[in-house]
Amino acid sequence: MNKQPLLIVDDLHTSFNVPSGEVRSVNGVSFTVNRDEVVGIVGESGSGKSVTAYSIMQILEKPGRVIGGSIKFEEKEMLNIPHRQLQKIRGQRVAIIFQDSMSSLNPVWSIGNQLREVIKVHQNAPVIQAEYNKVVEARNKLKNKAGDPKILKEELRKAKKNYDDFIDNRCLEMLRLVGINEPEKRLKQYPFEFSGGMLQRIMIAMALICEPDLIIADEPTTALDVTIQAQILELLLSIQKKMHMGIIIITHDLGVVAQVCDRVNVMYAGRIVETGTVRDIFYNPQHEYTKGLLNSIPKLNVKVDKLEPIAGNPVDVFRLPSGCSFAPRCAKCMAVCLKKYPEHYPVDEKGVHTTACFRYIKDLLDENKITDEEFQAYLASCQEGNKAFKKISRLDVYEALVEYQKAKKAYLEVKDTDISSEEKEIYKYRATDQKLNYYRAKRDLAIAKKSYRDGKNEKFSIDKNDVHKKVAHHKVEVASYVAKGMTKDQLDEYLDNLVICTSPVNYDITKEEVKARKKAFWDGVKKHLTTKYDSLLSKVEALNHLDELKQSYDQGVIDLRWKKYINRKLVAIKASLTKIYLKKNAIGKGDNV
Ligand code: SF4
Repeated sequence: MNKQPLLIVDDLHTSFNVPSGEVRSVNGVSFTVNRDEVVGIVGESGSGKSVTAYSIMQILEKPGRVIGGSIKFEEKEMLNIPHRQLQKIRGQRVAIIFQDSMSSLNPVWSIGNQLREVIKVHQNAPVIQAEYNKVVEARNKLKNKAGDPKILKEELRKAKKNYDDFIDNRCLEMLRLVGINEPEKRLKQYPFEFSGGMLQRIMIAMALICEPDLIIADEPTTALDVTIQAQILELLLSIQKKMHMGIIIITHDLGVVAQVCDRVNVMYAGRIVETGTVRDIFYNPQHEYTKGLLNSIPKLNVKVDKLEPIAGNPVDVFRLPSGCSFAPRCAKCMAVCLKKYPEHYPVDEKGVHTTACFRYIKDLLDENKITDEEFQAYLASCQEGNKAFKKISRLDVYEALVEYQKAKKAYLEVKDTDISSEEKEIYKYRATDQKLNYYRAKRDLAIAKKSYRDGKNEKFSIDKNDVHKKVAHHKVEVASYVAKGMTKDQLDEYLDNLVICTSPVNYDITKEEVKARKKAFWDGVKKHLTTKYDSLLSKVEALNHLDELKQSYDQGVIDLRWKKYINRKLVAIKASLTKIYLKKNAIGKGDNV
């Protein structure tokens, strides 16, 4: 196999600035593609596979833009080169096959015209240039009056005709190469007259017509049934062998990867999390996400009743976690994973197989394959990430109080009541992460409701019911994680405190007793929050500042800004608790709680 690197992508960053924030779709992606090699990029929807391809081709739609890194094709930097030079590479040397052939072809142009158009745009391609030069030569002769004009005109006409014949022959040759029957007839037909598999073949023919050195196939077989899929993949491989090309195959289908790829890059949340040969990835996966992907596909030799999906939801691209992006869904997450993104660690001696997972390092440590110092060095480098983590974890999750009682049931299903402090931290982190999703879903719901009201729901294209479901889902997720983060005693104590407020207030009891209960509740909540959940709830800040505020009052110095802020926070706490109380006891608005 020829190992000359065709393409080197190094630390590529692509971002989309949209009104709701910045989306880092590609976040430091690096890989190489050699001639005669098929490299797969695999990952779930939204992991940044296609954006990586479009970044390489520089066909990103606005507001997408490459904000960092380098893309070298045959050692020549492709980023920031003049458009003319880029055009020479794009299409001629590097071509792309898009996933949706029906919408990628022009419905009102015949297939022949669309193929001819590609040649005309790229007449400088080596395979076409020689023929085209004959036309240019004849035209120049006529222009320079280098002979009898009649003869020169005739020569030009012949050269043009030869060139047109050459283009037609090239189109027919390509259609035959990709296995289209009766190519002469097919050239005159329009896209709607072709099946999905045939259209995909036409797309491959268009990509190959200038004999590129590298082909990027973006989900080339997604819309096709398995038999056609196998034919298309076989076709791509046979053409690759004939033309000695490099191929990048982008797919979410591990079957396609196993069938055609030499090397694989597994992507998650805009990053490559594991890379290796097909054998490495399928027989010795090291990243928890890769393991999850492999567990979720059926195996011929293992009988299972139910396939195992990867738990949780894809990461919120607007708010990537400060540590490992897969942490909220990872069953083996450790505290260190929440603080810093893992680097790529070599799994084999040559460094072909690498993984970005702390668990791999931890396992090596447990098996005494690396020294404690080496691991401590990684942990020490997490200090910076720590700061960002705290910032997120102080976000307001007080609303989750409402869900605590629901969560008790979820909690009781957790057998281990003695959860380690590390696990608690992970649960808190997940609760926070879910909380962010929850707020986002709530915002979407508000937009959906408004658009329904204004009668322009199609503009937002948000399904209100869907968003409702999302909101409810995230709420329960938050609650269950928060609950799991407590020991049983902590949960009971907490719920007891909550019950003081939410249990029916007997009208027989005196006002003083109600007052005493309320006071006990507030004291309990404050004590509980300040002593046990200080890193989780921002209300603690409010309550702590309340103390400071009281002291400031006593000392006669007060910052009005804080007073306003704390009052707002306290009013919000009170309002949400009052709401639960009123709902539970069906008390009228006028009653004093
Ligand atoms: S780094 Fe940690 S959270 Fe990320 S996949 Fe590995 S074990 Fe899971």
